Amino acid sequence: MGGNAIEIEGLTKTYAASGSQPPKQALKGVDLDIPAGSIFGLLGPNGAGKSTLINILAGLVLKTGGKVRIWGFDQDVNPRQSRASIGVMPQELNIDPFFTPRAALEVQAGLYGVPKSQRITDRVLKAIGLEDKADAYARNLSGGMRRRLLLGKALVHRPQVLVLDEPTAGVDIELRQMLWANIRRLNEEQGTTIILTTHYLEEAEQMCEEIAIINHGEVIARDSTAALVGRMDAKTLVVHPEDPVTTLPAMPRGVESCQRRDGALCFTYRRKHISTGAVIEAVRDAGITIRDIATEEPDLEDVFVELTSSKGAA
Ligand code: ADP
Ligand code: MG
Repeated sequence: MGGNAIEIEGLTKTYAASGSQPPKQALKGVDLDIPAGSIFGLLGPNGAGKSTLINILAGLVLKTGGKVRIWGFDQDVNPRQSRASIGVMPQELNIDPFFTPRAALEVQAGLYGVPKSQRITDRVLKAIGLEDKADAYARNLSGGMRRRLLLGKALVHRPQVLVLDEPTAGVDIELRQMLWANIRRLNEEQGTTIILTTHYLEEAEQMCEEIAIINHGEVIARDSTAALVGRMDAKTLVVHPEDPVTTLPAMPRGVESCQRRDGALCFTYRRKHISTGAVIEAVRDAGITIRDIATEEPDLEDVFVELTSSKGAA
C-alpha cells in the first residue's frame, strides 16, 4: 500500500456526562492522514485528546462522528478488516497477573482469530526479549517486562499499523532504547507503519519523520519534523562576558535579553528581523568584553510551547 495507512475525516468524540461531570468534547473534528510506512508522532499536552484518538483507531472507544479508514478499510463498513490491520500498545498497564507471557500472547492471538498454525508466539517472545520469562506468571514480571509484553500483545496478528500510546513514559533509559530499537526494526524490516504519542519531544524529534500536534481536541499543526522546527525563526545568542555584568546592555528593538545563573547573557531574536552582528555590536557598545559566544537553535520543544501556549497561533 503506497498511500495512507490511516485516513481520518471530521472525527469527533464527546464523552457523555457522568455524575457531576458535564459532557466532554475530546475531539472537535480531526482531519489527519498518516502515510504508510512512516514513523508518525502525535504530540500534545495532557488532556489534548491523543489517547481518545488512538483508542478510537483501536476500536476501544466509539467515535461520535466522522470517518476512520485503517489500511483502506472504513471502520464502519469493514470493522473486522480495519481492526485486524492495527495493533495498539495502550497507555495503561492492563495485564492479567495470572497469565504467563506465552499464554497472554496466545490468548491475544485467539482474540484476533489467528489460527494456531499461523501463530508467531515464539518470535514475538524473542523480539520483546521475554524468552526467558515465557512461562513465568505476569505478576512476577518487572514493570519494564510488563510493558514489553504489552508491545508483544500488539504484534501477535502482524498488524500493518502499530500504535503506541506513551510507550516510554516512566520507563528507564535501557528499556526505552530497547523499545525504540524494536520499533525501528519493525518499521525497516516489515515496513510497519508506526504511530506514537510521547511527551519526550526529543524522542519525537529523533524518531518521527512527521508530526501532528493536537491541542484541545484539534490538530493545530502537521508537518515534517524538520519543517516544524524550521518554522521557528527564533535564535538565541549566548554571550559569556570576561567580567561580571550587572546591567543588561541596551539592545535593538525586538531582542529579548536575560541573564543566566552562570552570568552568561542571552539574547533571543527573530533571524528575519535582526542580524547576529547587530546583537554582538550592541554588546560591545555597552563596553562588555566577550570571552566566549555561542548560538542556540530552536528545537521541537520550542515549537510545541509556541503552538500550545494560550497566545500561540498555528
Ligand atoms: P491525552 O491522551 O491527550 O492526555 P485524552 O484523550 O486521555 O487526552 O483525554 C482528552 C479529554 O477527554 C480530557 O479532557 C479527558 O479528561 C477526557 N476524557 C478522556 N477519557 C474520558 C472518559 N472515559 N470519560 C470522560 N472524559 C474522558
Ligand atoms: Mg493519553
